[in-house]
Amino acid sequence: MLMNVAFFLPPSIFKENTSHLFVINKLRHQEEAARCATAVSQAQQGRWTKWEGVERRNITWSDLWSMESNRLSFIIRATYDVLPSPTNLHVWYGEDPACLQCAAPAILKHILVGCKTSLTQGRYTWRHNQVLKCLAAELENRRVTTNAMSQNGQTTNPRKTTFSFGKGRRGTKSPPPDPGPLNAARDWEMRVDLTQRLTFPPEIAATNLRPDLVLWSKSCRRAFIVELTVPWEDAIRKSSLVLL
Ligand SMILES: [Zn+2]
Repeated sequence: MLMNVAFFLPPSIFKENTSHLFVINKLRHQEEAARCATAVSQAQQGRWTKWEGVERRNITWSDLWSMESNRLSFIIRATYDVLPSPTNLHVWYGEDPACLQCAAPAILKHILVGCKTSLTQGRYTWRHNQVLKCLAAELENRRVTTNAMSQNGQTTNPRKTTFSFGKGRRGTKSPPPDPGPLNAARDWEMRVDLTQRLTFPPEIAATNLRPDLVLWSKSCRRAFIVELTVPWEDAIRKSSLVLL
C-alpha cells in the first residue's frame, strides 16, 4: 500500500530524507485513522476502541517473533473476540452457547471475568496470583539490584551481575536496570501476599489491611503499596477507582 501511494507522488518530494519521513508518517496516520474508523463501526471486533485507561504499547516485530505462538494467537483473537467461546461456536456452528461451569451464556467476558462458579472455584484468584508472582519477581529483582548498588548507582555485589543472551548480544554484560524511584534508598524491603499471608509492616503502620505487595524503605521513609486487580479491559478505570 505504501509503495503504491508513493509511486504517484512527485519525485521532488523524496529529495531530502525529512520529506521522505514526512510522507511516511502522513501515510501511517491516514492508514491508522481509516483502521480506527472501520473498528468503531464494528460492534464486536471493534470493542477495543472503547477501552479506557489501557496503556498503549508499541510492539515491535522482534517482540512478536519472541512471543509464544499460542499466547500471541490468544491475545489477538481475544482482542477481536474471535476465540472459540461457546457463544461464538453457537454463531458459527450452532453449538450450545452455555457456559460449561454455570450454564449462563458464555460470552468472552463471562468466561474471563464474570462466571460466579469460576469465582467460587478460585480460578480468578489463581490467575490473579500468577500475575502477582510475575510482578513480585520483577520488583524483587529491582529491589535486590538497587540495594546492592553504591550511592552513585554502581553495582557493588558481583554475584548479582546479570548477563544477556539475547539475539546479537551474546555474552555481553547488560547494564543494571534503572532503579527509578527505588534509587532514593539502599535498604528496600518487600512483602508479598502469596505463599505467606501478608502482615503489614508495623514500622509503617499498625493495620489489619492486607494489600498484595508492600515495598518500603526505613531510611527514606517511603512505601509503595500494590493492590492488584485483573479486570475486563472496559472496566480498568472503574476497577482502579474501586481499589482506591
Ligand atoms: Zn459461567
